[in-house]
Amino acid sequence: MEKGYEKVWSGCLAVIKDNISPNSYNTWFAPIRPVRLRENVLTLQVPSQFFYEWLEEHYIDLLKKTIKKELGQNGRLEYSIIMDSSHGGSTTKPYTVHAPTLNKKALKNPPISVPIDINQGGSTGRTLPNPFIIPGLKKINIHPQLIESYNFDNFVQGDCNRLARSAGLAVGQNPGKTSFNPLLIYSTNGLGKTHLVHAIGIEVKNLYPEKTVLYVTAEQFTNQFIDSIRNGNQNDFVHFYQMIDLLIMDDIHCLAGKPKTQDVFFHLFNHLHQNGKQIIITSDTPPVEMSGIEPRLLSRFKWGLSADLQVPDFETRIAILQKKIHNDGVEMPGEVLELISAKMNTSIREMEGALISILAQSSMNKKEITLDLAARVIDKFVKNTPKEISIEYIQKTVSQYFEIPLEKLKSKSRKRETVQARQLAMYFSKMHTKASLAVIGNKCGNKDHATVLHACKTIKNLMDTDKRFKKYVEDIDSIIKIK
Ligand code: ADP
Ligand code: MG
Repeated sequence: MEKGYEKVWSGCLAVIKDNISPNSYNTWFAPIRPVRLRENVLTLQVPSQFFYEWLEEHYIDLLKKTIKKELGQNGRLEYSIIMDSSHGGSTTKPYTVHAPTLNKKALKNPPISVPIDINQGGSTGRTLPNPFIIPGLKKINIHPQLIESYNFDNFVQGDCNRLARSAGLAVGQNPGKTSFNPLLIYSTNGLGKTHLVHAIGIEVKNLYPEKTVLYVTAEQFTNQFIDSIRNGNQNDFVHFYQMIDLLIMDDIHCLAGKPKTQDVFFHLFNHLHQNGKQIIITSDTPPVEMSGIEPRLLSRFKWGLSADLQVPDFETRIAILQKKIHNDGVEMPGEVLELISAKMNTSIREMEGALISILAQSSMNKKEITLDLAARVIDKFVKNTPKEISIEYIQKTVSQYFEIPLEKLKSKSRKRETVQARQLAMYFSKMHTKASLAVIGNKCGNKDHATVLHACKTIKNLMDTDKRFKKYVEDIDSIIKIK
């Protein structure tokens, strides 16, 4: 017979009370409610995500000990989080977190299981809580979702970003008043798009605190839109976005192949633009090369200014590294910085990754940062960083392998050999890229997502039944992976 959850929790509280100050106890433990106990898992209800994070950060050991004491070695803990209702209005339905997570903390500290955060399965970490469902929302309450350190002071200037940076500054100083509306920033991964658009948002917030600024990724926007349909509050969704004075939408290419979301965004765009509001967009390609985005939306993107970010040159890369170590309050010999800058020359994000690895290596092993140490870390880093494989690259590889013109593979041709090559391109794109089925289909003969799914199934079936075919697939796969 298991003990009741209330009894278990009051047992824990008795221990906790003895171990922390009354003040902390009242702040962090008194508001917790035990909810249930099932198979040695005690579920606690806490008032907010922040509350949960605080408990995890400061009281994990204490909680661990007391749970073990009450429930034995296999005792575990789960949290149920109530949506933050500090903006007024009533408490919403609790966001119960079911599954225990696999995040590092949880692995290091079994047996307490830590819940996953409350997003809907997105891959980008925390989702924006759907602000528009908070009752009685006032404009002033909208949180801009900006990252403070992504400001202009920290954004190093160079030839690679001159136009984008100065246009961004102009927009930051006069949102909605320049001809750069929308302002579209594009580049490949890791070259500073997200940083730059945050900097613009921060500039606007500093100069015009009364303006409503919102940073949102196209993926978050899509999820919120889908939620709003599910919950029947699409009007609230639209009204919420119509209140924004500066809307920053990151990674717009994620809207490819999502016509309904594009449609709402199109109308929102028109509304904001007509009312003199500023729109900033980022993308991984220039508008002319965007695929899967409706022409009427593309034509809007061309109204303002498109500016790209390029790979910074050697000196600028050094300046970026210097800024970073200066901000972090660490020191590093000049020759090490030069080595990083020389070797890591395609993405600023990866370059920063190498820098962090070197710092970590030296502090963990208590070694000085020498050229030798840096060279070893960079070497590992370069080898371990998988090069990004694109759909275009896959198409090229497949078409060369079968000696079929690339154009044919991208066309709608139904010739048997073309169809099979196209299906292979779809299959590899699904395996090696993060692109959605819709995007893959769009780039391979303008097909829909169902066709891509079917292609993947067909290839798998063929591989199971035809040894020669399987060999082809493995051959091509190894060529693709050499990249
Ligand atoms: P993207 O959105 O294009 O993938 P990010 O904005 O995420 O790239 O930038 C990747 C990393 O590089 C971030 O840590 C960012 O701060 C840094 N970074 C990019 N450009 C600069 C710059 N000009 N000066 C300083 N840091 C930069
Ligand atoms: Mg980005």
